[in-house]
Amino acid sequence: MAMQLDRVKMPELDPDTRTSSYAEAVLGYSRKLAVEEALRCIDCKTKPCTYGCPALTRAPEYIQAIAEGDFDQSLAIALETYPIPGTLGRTCFHPCEDVCVVGIKGEPVAICSLKRAAFDHGKWPKIEKPAPTGKSVGVVGGGPAGLQVAYDLIRKGHAVTVYEALPILGGMMTVGIPAYRLPRDVVQKELDKLREWGVDLVTDWRLGEGDFTLDNLLGKHDAVFLGVGCHAPKSIRVEGEDLPGVTHAVEWLRKLELGEPYDLEGKRIVIIGGGSTAMDVSRNSLRLGAKSVHIVYRRGRRQMTAAPEEIVQARDEKIRFLLMANPTRILPDDGGHVKFVECVQMELGPPDASGRKRPEPIPHSEFLLAADEVILAVGQNPSPIKQHVEDRVAMTRWGDVQVDEQCRTSDPRVYAAGDIALGPSSIIEAVAHARRAAASMHADLMADA
Ligand SMILES: Cc1cc2nc3c(=O)[nH]c(=O)nc-3n(C[C@H](O)[C@H](O)[C@H](O)COP(=O)(O)OP(=O)(O)OC[C@H]3O[C@@H](n4cnc5c(N)ncnc54)[C@H](O)[C@@H]3O)c2cc1C
Ligand code: SF4
Repeated sequence: MAMQLDRVKMPELDPDTRTSSYAEAVLGYSRKLAVEEALRCIDCKTKPCTYGCPALTRAPEYIQAIAEGDFDQSLAIALETYPIPGTLGRTCFHPCEDVCVVGIKGEPVAICSLKRAAFDHGKWPKIEKPAPTGKSVGVVGGGPAGLQVAYDLIRKGHAVTVYEALPILGGMMTVGIPAYRLPRDVVQKELDKLREWGVDLVTDWRLGEGDFTLDNLLGKHDAVFLGVGCHAPKSIRVEGEDLPGVTHAVEWLRKLELGEPYDLEGKRIVIIGGGSTAMDVSRNSLRLGAKSVHIVYRRGRRQMTAAPEEIVQARDEKIRFLLMANPTRILPDDGGHVKFVECVQMELGPPDASGRKRPEPIPHSEFLLAADEVILAVGQNPSPIKQHVEDRVAMTRWGDVQVDEQCRTSDPRVYAAGDIALGPSSIIEAVAHARRAAASMHADLMADA
């Protein structure tokens, strides 16, 4: 049979419908369409998609199961690697697809969306609990890294408690990624399954507050995992950054998810940054009634770090992109509230140390952009746990936890992975890193048994 070069298209809501609500923008494959797409996988000999995934997902196997119409088996295979296939199937940056051999001549197999189809149409396998080992683990942070460690260790028979600072679990899956990309019932189902496995999920517990100390955790548990991510804002170091009306994206998104009543009706929103976070705040702003949304980014479209599909969706929703432009000052009105963002036009100069051409300002090219609100989406810094753990755990001067290849820290009973050790990364990288941490924790716990 000839190879199908074009991907089976996934239905989406049209841009006008999707900006008028928080309904999921991309609708996902029906069973029939998923089988059709899975049949595009030629089950090639080398299967580079497996190695293209940091977590070594068994993609060829779950795709073959879908090709045979067995969605239950497909979901069971995905669940062998991680507890969040529904989340990953909607949000993963899918490095596996970049190396799919079908992509050499045509469009790569939709490996990521097929995982979503396994979650959407498959039945969860029965939980078979292992014999308890008598060991107990405390996991700090309820994001993808923490949940992965909890999943891997509960399946080995260890008792696991996850301690999360916020009233809701999920980390950036819920307080970063908006519900129109990742519906909350998907995350809820994944969390419910972790509870069924026996993971104790504790919220409103912040490491460093009152009695919530690393010493206390180590008194209670045999080992502790730190997966607190990067939730601190990053400055853009321009005049006016602290004006009323200027917010950092991670704080803005977190407050929105925790119920802050934003009213952007009729407002002009300016967003600084070109990554996934910039797309999320911009598309959220439209859904909250903004009159106009501009994204200001200092490089060109091809250098934007957001996923290409997110950029297309933002463009289709009429977000305006001001590329090769950088803010120089944020200016107030007479009452002190933000009124304008002064920007300068940029051009690409010689390559910097990373090999990428460095954007440089074009002299005398400043212009003013009117703004009722400015949101800074230029990255995040590590969550501030340094002062609470550094007497036991070596940290970098920037506040990341220092780990070795196997995610061990300088304290033999403390481990770390995900963004707090890697810097801001992605869900699949956090998952892959956390799998390594869980493997080390299990080996060390059993060596002591
Ligand atoms: C807006 C946005 C959109 C993104 N979109 C995508 C995407 O589409 N696809 C993708 O792959 N990646 C995306 N990412 C990146 C991805 O979400 C992160 O790389 C990933 O969530 C990191 O996982 P983690 O578990 O290490 O940290 P986090 O997800 O940040 O979880 C850390 C958890 O620790 C908790 N915590 C912090 N401090 C404490 C404390 N002192 N005590 C107890 N708990 C604490 C936090 O509240 C949080 O729940 C996005 C990031 C952002 C900001
Ligand atoms: S690389 Fe592509 S064709 Fe090969 S097994 Fe993976 S999905 Fe199938």
